[in-house]
Amino acid sequence: MDLNDDQRTLVEWLHGFAENVMRPAAHEWDEREETPWPIIEEAARLGIYSLDFFANAMADRSGLSIVLALEELAWGDAGLCMAIIGTSLGVAAIMANGTPEQQMEWIPRCFGTPDDIKLAAFGVSEPDAGSDVSSLRTRAVYDEASDEWVLNGTKTWITNGGIADVHVIVASVEPALAGRGQASFVVPEKTPGLSMGQKFSKMGIRASHTAEVVLEDCRIPGSCLLGGKDRLDERLARARDGQRSQSQAAMATFEATRPAVGAQALGIARAAYEYALDYAKERKQFGRAIVENQAIAFKLADMKTRIDGARLLVWRAAWMAATRKPYLNGEGSMSKLVAGETAVHVTEEAIQILGGYGYVRDYPVERWHRDSKIYTIFEGTSEIQRLVIARAISGVRVQ
Ligand SMILES: Cc1cc2nc3c(=O)[nH]c(=O)nc-3n(C[C@H](O)[C@H](O)[C@H](O)COP(=O)(O)OP(=O)(O)OC[C@H]3O[C@@H](n4cnc5c(N)ncnc54)[C@H](O)[C@@H]3O)c2cc1C
Repeated sequence: MDLNDDQRTLVEWLHGFAENVMRPAAHEWDEREETPWPIIEEAARLGIYSLDFFANAMADRSGLSIVLALEELAWGDAGLCMAIIGTSLGVAAIMANGTPEQQMEWIPRCFGTPDDIKLAAFGVSEPDAGSDVSSLRTRAVYDEASDEWVLNGTKTWITNGGIADVHVIVASVEPALAGRGQASFVVPEKTPGLSMGQKFSKMGIRASHTAEVVLEDCRIPGSCLLGGKDRLDERLARARDGQRSQSQAAMATFEATRPAVGAQALGIARAAYEYALDYAKERKQFGRAIVENQAIAFKLADMKTRIDGARLLVWRAAWMAATRKPYLNGEGSMSKLVAGETAVHVTEEAIQILGGYGYVRDYPVERWHRDSKIYTIFEGTSEIQRLVIARAISGVRVQ
């Protein structure tokens, strides 16, 4: 279970960035609720916001580097962390669905360079299709004469939506086939017909931009279909014949990213636990430190135990994904489910331990609680994670 030297160095490096750059800036960007360009620029300058960083972390064959990195960054601040890593959602979609040539072409363009930073976004969710990603209404129609795809529809809740340089959009090619009739498309920078709709004002992770993406007769080259036309045509033919598919475009991306999402939730939970522990040792009431009361000490014991348990699930799922062991019991979902719910629970307990000081914006604990809640909602709600696990363990199509 020991981390190796590379992993330890990575954690120390990122902890320094989280402590010295993210923590001091977190309150300001939460209040401003704008994209924190200076922080992204600093991350790019240091090589944290870069293709190399993600490629190196992903190359760790134990799978741990990426989850270690994300726990540290979210410990610094979850909103700033999402602003730095939101691009990786689009990158993961290109990795999961693109040909090797498409990966080579598009992934570097998602990050740009420190002097010319680019962002990426991944658009699946729609106003009427959130958990039920098989019911997407965004349509992609092929125009054979020009070898172009024409996209129409509205995506909602999209991280970096409308401000990204590269948007990966999941759309329905053959609606009658529901989820199996979908494909992923890259929409290049400045493509006419793609625009930002409403920008959302959020409860937490407010430094991360979330907005609608509107697609109106948005024409993209045929080569922007991830996986290519031949592979899509074969897949659609198999689906029409009623043969089993491997996995749907959107689901393939979400499966791969679940432990990474859980790792961020862990970072928030650890931040709140550490803060509450220090506070409980300092704060005196009735002539003794509040940690001397079993009621408070047991809360802290439970918080630490749940965090460590969640981390083991996250590490296991990351290791299984990296070593290509199938999630036969929904282990990816388990990791995200437990880590997300742990973060909400632990941050709420931290508020309780701080009392009134936990409830005001002068202290970071209420922000951590607001930030934690999204981890039971996005990339599959807790209910959907339970559904995945229930179906996997029972073999029954639980509704
Ligand atoms: C800040 C933020 C960032 C996001 N970033 C992105 C992004 O970058 N890209 C993207 O594509 N999407 C993104 N999302 C969308 C996110 O993934 C969805 O909000 C999420 O999947 C839930 O969909 P919904 O909001 O439509 O809720 P719904 O699907 O309408 O669910 C509402 C409630 O019903 C429950 N429910 C639904 N179906 C079932 C069922 N079968 N069984 C039991 N319970 C069920 C849900 O668990 C939930 O409690 C983001 C959302 C937010 C808030």
